[in-house]
Amino acid sequence: MAAALRIGVIGGSIAGCAAAVAGSRAGADVTVYERSGAELQDRGFGIVIPPPLHAEMVGSGYLDPAMPTAPVGTRVWLTREPGGRSARELARQPSPVTPCNWGLLWRSLRASAGAARYLRGQPVTSVRADTAGRAVITSARGEEPYDVVVGADGHASATRQLLAPGLRPEPAPYMVWRGAIPLGALAGHPRELDLLRGAWVTLGFPGGHGIFYLIPGGPQDGDGSTGAGNRLLAYAIYGRSPEGAEPGPYIQELAKEHFPAAWADIVARGGRGATACHPVADVRAPRVARPPLLLAGDAAGVTRPHTATGAVKALQDALCLERVLREGPDPATALERYAERRTAAGARLVELGRRMGRALVEEVPDWPTMGQDEVDVWFRGVLAGTWHYLYEEPGEAAEPDADPEATVAR
Ligand SMILES: Cc1cc2nc3c(=O)[nH]c(=O)nc-3n(C[C@H](O)[C@H](O)[C@H](O)COP(=O)(O)OP(=O)(O)OC[C@H]3O[C@@H](n4cnc5c(N)ncnc54)[C@H](O)[C@@H]3O)c2cc1C
Repeated sequence: MAAALRIGVIGGSIAGCAAAVAGSRAGADVTVYERSGAELQDRGFGIVIPPPLHAEMVGSGYLDPAMPTAPVGTRVWLTREPGGRSARELARQPSPVTPCNWGLLWRSLRASAGAARYLRGQPVTSVRADTAGRAVITSARGEEPYDVVVGADGHASATRQLLAPGLRPEPAPYMVWRGAIPLGALAGHPRELDLLRGAWVTLGFPGGHGIFYLIPGGPQDGDGSTGAGNRLLAYAIYGRSPEGAEPGPYIQELAKEHFPAAWADIVARGGRGATACHPVADVRAPRVARPPLLLAGDAAGVTRPHTATGAVKALQDALCLERVLREGPDPATALERYAERRTAAGARLVELGRRMGRALVEEVPDWPTMGQDEVDVWFRGVLAGTWHYLYEEPGEAAEPDADPEATVAR
């Protein structure tokens, strides 16, 4: 019997665990090297994925069907009433999404990757090719050869540098504040809570916008005060902080100045500790595999987060990896096929992320002058013919799609 294919995975987060599941399911012997020595559940906040992809991940054994999610079917656009402090609804669009808690998603993938060896606190210090065409990983454990090495080492990937030396992320001229706050922050705001039970919210303001949605809480997050079950409010607010302002705390001031009073109060109640401030940037490898190396997740490419596709792409990369490994006949052919299928998907998303960033942050419309038709027409222009799972056309049914590469954008 031939020896099992040996796969080394660098990075044990969403992309790394998903790749480990893929490799194990395709019959390979998988080892994951994760730099961090701690559990990863505190990293990240809300992650939205398309419902058909969630169903596929559950059906194929990547995600536990018992992993909690908080699906909703509608997107509501709001802005502040001109001259007032209340919210005005601009538009409503069908937009079925499956919001997840990053930590629960990671834990579920990690559990499904149980057949793989998962080495915590093991930073990879280098990867090189040997004369037999294998990739040799160096870590504190010494040198270990693999038939395939998956670079799942995130946005600052050193593995990407091996495939595309000198490639650097391109920064966007704004940042994102990302948070997840207990639902107690919505006590006293029943209208907002009611809205969030059935929809995710985009709140436009001069100079940017915020996204708000409920996600499942972890075991420690339910406080019972709102009657909405064990949920957290996740948000991502995009804008610029003025020169001289400290970017971290600035979000509270921005919300106070531009948000409807209730939404500003909700953000303020979350407290500063609930918010992380990140620069926004994008980058994509010109080719996401060159045997024996393959890139997955943010290592392969990062889009501006408006597309809500970083983790989605990591899951799709894993599905594609499993498929090409099963198709065979050898790892090099499988990796070439992976590169052909996954390189273009990343490029499309980077372009779309930039268009969305321009429209939703850099050159925002005059929100209060817009209504349903204006929002629909404006956003159709931003999409410029690209179908994206967050922007299902009003009235158009969700398409069950067998091709995972097409469940995000095409
Ligand atoms: C504001 C915001 C909102 C977002 N919303 C969404 C969303 O709604 N939907 C969605 O799909 N995506 C979303 N994303 C994107 C998503 O969070 C990321 O794309 C995804 O988490 C990336 O996962 P990853 O495993 O590729 O990278 P990471 O999570 O960065 O993991 C990389 C791992 O590699 C390890 N590592 C690095 N170097 C080494 C080394 N030398 N040796 C060993 N280990 C190493 C690190 O410790 C880390 O654990 C959002 C992002 C942001 C910023």
